[in-house]
Amino acid sequence: MTRHPSAEHLAEFVEGVLSRRWTAKVSSHLDTGCIRCHGQVVQLKQVTSVLTSASLKFGPMPDQFSARIEMAIASESSARVTSAQASARPAAGTSLRVVSSAASTSGGEAGASPSSPPRWRARSRP
Ligand SMILES: [Zn+2]
Repeated sequence: MTRHPSAEHLAEFVEGVLSRRWTAKVSSHLDTGCIRCHGQVVQLKQVTSVLTSASLKFGPMPDQFSARIEMAIASESSARVTSAQASARPAAGTSLRVVSSAASTSGGEAGASPSSPPRWRARSRP
């Protein structure tokens, strides 16, 4: 395995709930000495230990609360993947629209007129 495992796979690896196939892949990747993934594993282990000590102190979290946290983490991680790929702050649909409108008006100065806002901005409103 040459690519880094996803944060999700690393998290499941740390928790020991990753499938056997992926556990082998992740551990063989970590055996290569990848500093980036080792750092993530260390951080994930810290999260686990903090959550474990917190649950010993306060008792288990309500089901709804952990579901909301999982949703927030999932949306944040997909947003980070999107922004890393598009290297743009807006959501994926918005940045794709910018690219396509700039490509369709490829007259040389697409989006260069300062008086009128870009067309995607008006269209992206709900
Ligand atoms: Zn790695």
